[in-house]
Amino acid sequence: MSGHLMGVYNRAPLEVDRGQGVRLWAKDGTEYLDCVSGISTNALGHANPKLAEALKAQADKLWHVSNIFKIPGQDELADALCAKSFAEVVFFANSGTEAVECALKTARKYHHANGQPERIDIYGFDGSFHGRTYGGINAAANPSYTEGFGPPMQGFHQLKWGDKEALKAAFENPTTAAVILEPVQGEGGCRATSEEDLRWMRETADANGVLIIFDEVQCGMGRTGKLWAHEWAGMAPDIMAVAKALGGGFPIGACLATAEAAKGMTVGAHGSTFGGNPLAMAVGKAAFDEISSDAVIANVNEIAGYLKQQLHGLQERFPDVIVEVRGKGLLLGLKLVPNNREFMGWARDEAKLLVAGGGDNLVRILPPLNITLDEAREAVERVEKACEFARTKLAA
Ligand SMILES: *Cc1c(COP(=O)(O)O)cnc(C)c1O
Repeated sequence: MSGHLMGVYNRAPLEVDRGQGVRLWAKDGTEYLDCVSGISTNALGHANPKLAEALKAQADKLWHVSNIFKIPGQDELADALCAKSFAEVVFFANSGTEAVECALKTARKYHHANGQPERIDIYGFDGSFHGRTYGGINAAANPSYTEGFGPPMQGFHQLKWGDKEALKAAFENPTTAAVILEPVQGEGGCRATSEEDLRWMRETADANGVLIIFDEVQCGMGRTGKLWAHEWAGMAPDIMAVAKALGGGFPIGACLATAEAAKGMTVGAHGSTFGGNPLAMAVGKAAFDEISSDAVIANVNEIAGYLKQQLHGLQERFPDVIVEVRGKGLLLGLKLVPNNREFMGWARDEAKLLVAGGGDNLVRILPPLNITLDEAREAVERVEKACEFARTKLAA
């Protein structure tokens, strides 16, 4: 135990030393195949040379000034994000939950600017995760993250994921500001809202003057096989939170919006000391150019097809271990018979494979987006090995 660290994490007994691509080495020299990727964050693998180069070059020039000045790189990254999305304006933050916070504030402020300050209600869904600020935990309303932190924040409501009747009523409520949704839930268990339902949400929101916020912190940035997960449905939100893979492992978050939705966010409405700092912009631009390239997106689809097929094969062979294969692109989940936390330990110790946990007793497989077919094959072999070990444990 590290005595002076706040005890909020359930850490695996693995002291990490260094990484290269999809591999991680512990201090004791053990090599692991990393299919956690810092929870969908190191999307180009560890120690990516292009990102390291961008960081080093910027480190010698300028680290921080303040947003009271024009910061190098912000326009370039904002231009790139807007050129490849529905958005027209971007606010830079340092993390996913800050991007969500900005999205929630933008939505309420929009209605305020529109002369409808009574529109404050925000509807989220069970199984969502929007980070750990008060706005984030109230929007997701997961009791294990809100309990003990005081009364629920006014105007935040939770709907049952998939309850279309309740969602319709929320859209029609005259004091609704916005609905916030992960098009593909990450932490909650790799659940994707159907493309048809996403299009229906867009129509219904428009008909009622309600904004749609997508939290693509985990499912965005190429993870599902399109740059943005909502692209599969051929629709777009008004506001979107992005982070995790946006910096390829460097802390950065961004709130993207249409100019209309952001019309209340005028001078003084929001801000950040570190948001959009030169280091984050330099790495972010390098990461975005790479991740949004046709080659990387094509690789996601190719590897995802392979992995899904192989994992279904393993499910057939190990029905006593794997209940279901879920997810979209390289946001893959295995719903398990044994406890997922226990399985993660077996995968780590017996197969030297790192996977992430998830709601609904899942383990998530979140390899870097540039993982090769050979490495993906290795990942499957290690999942198989973990399943074999799980079988012996379950039989015992
Ligand atoms: C990780 C995550 C967040 C929070 O991001 P932080 O950088 O930890 O604040 C928010 N939303 C989703 C969907 C996430 O996966």
